[in-house]
Amino acid sequence: MIFKTDLNYRKQSLLKLLLTVENKEAEIIQALHDDFKKPAFEAVATETSFIVSELKYTIKNLNLWAKPQRVLPSFLNFPSADYLYPEPYGKILIIAPWNYPYQLVFAPLIAAVAAGNQVVVKPSELTPNTSKVIAEIIQATFEENHVQCVLGGIDVSQNLLSQRWDYIFFTGSVTVGKIVAKAAAVHLTPVTLELGGKNPCIVEATANLKLAAKRIVWGKFLNAGQTCIAPDYLLVDQNIKPKLIEYLKEEITLAYGENPQKSPDYPRIINEKNWRRQISLLENQVVLLGGKTSADDFYVSPTLLDEPSLDSLVMQEEIFGPILPILGYKTEADLERIITRYEKPLSLYLFSQNKKFVEKILAQYSFGGGCVNDTLIHFANKRLPFGGVGHSGIGAYHGKRSFELFSHQKAIVKKANWLDITIRYAPYKGKLGTLKKLLKWFS
Ligand code: NAD
Repeated sequence: MIFKTDLNYRKQSLLKLLLTVENKEAEIIQALHDDFKKPAFEAVATETSFIVSELKYTIKNLNLWAKPQRVLPSFLNFPSADYLYPEPYGKILIIAPWNYPYQLVFAPLIAAVAAGNQVVVKPSELTPNTSKVIAEIIQATFEENHVQCVLGGIDVSQNLLSQRWDYIFFTGSVTVGKIVAKAAAVHLTPVTLELGGKNPCIVEATANLKLAAKRIVWGKFLNAGQTCIAPDYLLVDQNIKPKLIEYLKEEITLAYGENPQKSPDYPRIINEKNWRRQISLLENQVVLLGGKTSADDFYVSPTLLDEPSLDSLVMQEEIFGPILPILGYKTEADLERIITRYEKPLSLYLFSQNKKFVEKILAQYSFGGGCVNDTLIHFANKRLPFGGVGHSGIGAYHGKRSFELFSHQKAIVKKANWLDITIRYAPYKGKLGTLKKLLKWFS
């Protein structure tokens, strides 16, 4: 039985959530800092403000989105009025990762509630402070049979996945994404999988190099590189590579100083396991800048690597940390050879002022989304769907699309009675010619 919440109840719940998250902002910022030294600026810019904005936008537009939407009828059904009726799926499971632990819980949750669903959310166990505040917010805002927060690790996640849901929304790694998809298949449960991958960032010869370096450094080292859409590796035209490296070094120092470990603006790696993985990616590499690590606080400095072998670990798996490999290219064939080694990425970035080259690259490669002459910022436009393709994910959300994602669109034809065109009814004798003519006219 579907738990149907009326529109007013949904709106009141979201308004209450808005009030709660605004009141708790300082606690959220502190928790994010306690978990991995996330700077307050980044906490506001990438977590709390995003959720407040998504909440306000959803509350403002909810009546419109939830209304049955009239679509053009088919001539073959004449006379009729045709509609899409959005209806809630029912019980939704949301499983979230640790890297944007607050935003990636609440962005889907807001939409699932707006669409009238019951929700169970499982935040990451790797950010215990933030997850605790998330649980408090949910408990203070929602009735227990409406939205519930379940804390715990892999075993809790697996237990939830063994139950039957009407929709599963998962954000995390490709490996766990496959586990989720398998569990969902048992009950034919629809899924959204927001996953990761190796995101290329191409810097072509005509790029504004100084600005490119600034924007790459920002996109790569925000959250200490622990961002699903961060540029994973650079592909740079061989001729401009030395100049770009010089600018990248300058921009890193400008942003984080000579010793980034002392910068209040530079976060840490989330835990020892991930910190050790970053160190393993540095083995046998040519370090152009950085490469400094410290076990005391799981620190890895912003690091530039020169020409890693494509067979090395750093060029085999998603880096998900502050290490940026730089590879020179001579021809477009070089680009193709490297980019197509990997599964379709979540993002692709391209720095160039050559419009023809830009359009060629955008047409040639398949990826979730991206930017020309910037990094990450496509994430911030509510009118752009956010999601991957192939191994980087299934489905997309943000803004109105989030509401649609958590709604089944019921297709309804309301047929009028004042006219009944009888050709479709048996017996069909002598009607085939007329049917063919009608189909030709109206198809
Ligand atoms: P993860 O896949 O390890 O964990 C995500 C969630 O799944 C956590 O809540 C965890 O408890 C649960 N989980 C872990 N192992 C499980 C298992 N065996 N069975 C069932 N549940 C399990 O991911 P993570 O380390 O938290 O996040 C990093 C990954 O997430 C990166 O690959 C990154 O690219 C991706 N990511 C994608 C997006 C996106 O929007 N596309 C956003 C953030 C992160």
